[in-house]
Amino acid sequence: MRHIAIIGSGPAGYYTAEAAQKLWGDDVRIDIFDRLPVPYGLIRFGVAPDHQSIKGVSRRYEKTALTDNVRFVGNVAIGEDVTIAELQQFYDAIVLATGAPRDRELAVPGNDLGNVYGSAEFVGWYNGHPQFADLAPDLSGRTAVVIGMGNVALDVVRILSKTRDEFAGSDIVNHALDALTASPIERIVILGRRGPHQISMTPKELGELMELEQASPQVETADLPDEAEDAILEPGLRKSVAHLRSFAAIRRAIHGEKRIAIEFDFFASPVALLGDGRVEAVEVERTEVVKGRAQGTGETYRIPASLVVTCIGYRTAPIEGVPFDERMGRFANDEGRILDGLYCVGWARRGPTGTIGTNRPDGFGLVELIAADMESGKLGRQGKRGREGFDKLAADRGLDIVTFQDWKKIEEAEHSAAREGSPREKFIAIEQMIAAKGS
Ligand code: NAP
Repeated sequence: MRHIAIIGSGPAGYYTAEAAQKLWGDDVRIDIFDRLPVPYGLIRFGVAPDHQSIKGVSRRYEKTALTDNVRFVGNVAIGEDVTIAELQQFYDAIVLATGAPRDRELAVPGNDLGNVYGSAEFVGWYNGHPQFADLAPDLSGRTAVVIGMGNVALDVVRILSKTRDEFAGSDIVNHALDALTASPIERIVILGRRGPHQISMTPKELGELMELEQASPQVETADLPDEAEDAILEPGLRKSVAHLRSFAAIRRAIHGEKRIAIEFDFFASPVALLGDGRVEAVEVERTEVVKGRAQGTGETYRIPASLVVTCIGYRTAPIEGVPFDERMGRFANDEGRILDGLYCVGWARRGPTGTIGTNRPDGFGLVELIAADMESGKLGRQGKRGREGFDKLAADRGLDIVTFQDWKKIEEAEHSAAREGSPREKFIAIEQMIAAKGS
């Protein structure tokens, strides 16, 4: 019997479990740990609340979760409640699927001013993550600056722009829905340090800006390269740039009809955040793109801003004793192997790139690597105690473990509490989740 511990119950964790289950069938026991009492990580707390069809992938993870040899072990923080070294006594292989939950820091003066948030915090707030649910960003100002031109920036811009009606069917938490829809915001500037050909926004997500009821995307025609130059772009990016061109073309027609302007500011690198205690403006340097890189031109200007959200990428949270690549912000690893018997997968392995689906081949590839290590004898003799050993340790330590059946009770309570048309009202405090599972 093989015993595998997977740390993290997001997409990378569940795809890895699915792969292990497919390969070894009844010859494997898999425990999926999560520090929270609820599963699915990024699906619950990262994917935008108005993208319910993407969240539907959790049904696939549930299928894996409900197989006999896979177990959810919620409310246990590995590295705090239990160490990796302790897990190594019980499991043949440990897989860190902990994602990249920390914000990359925008290293400019003023980044610690009030009402400046990283996207992990801001997205965590509107998605009801217990760590960020009481963030209480002040949305009473009129201009927000969103830094970065990736899909997370698009999520944040869209969520800041929607009307209450447009959130119908979403699972945005009530506190965020109320704050967002009461906001008088009328200008959202998206800053990109490079140009339209260097954005990381995908076409479908960019196209959604055109459908917003009260906001219109605006692009300056002068920022767009000559259309013939689009031919060299890969097809997805070419489609995204086509959207930017249509934003530039329609600008005059709809400008004025809609309350909120979403302005794309290209070749614009933030150099300082200004304000007295809380942010009031962003100082920006004009750039030009030289050999694909942004270079400052020395010309600067200021954008008034009462709220700043940086959407410039994420870092994995280190775990004591596990080798970490500081520069890349993820575990130090070779194709997923950190040390013999200790592995990483998903964003914790490769950094915060790719779609949810990218984690599937990642998980399947990692299980092949673990299988090869087992075959070659690298992982030592089998015969560890697996979950039985862990359960004894957890009982001795008085850990209040949340099982998948407990989660189903929590989920049921969330369904019952949903406002009309919404799939669920999430519990935002760990104590509420624990109370909902009962004893
Ligand atoms: P991303 O796609 O890597 O975009 C990060 C953006 O931040 C880039 O435009 C980057 O510009 C910019 N940036 C980085 N450092 C900066 C700095 N110091 N100053 C100014 N700008 C800076 O990351 P993401 O948006 O966080 O998304 C993470 C992953 O999740 C991506 O693979 C994304 O596609 C995926 N995702 C998908 C969806 C969806 O499919 N609906 C939704 C959300 C996220 P440079 O290019 O110049 O470095």
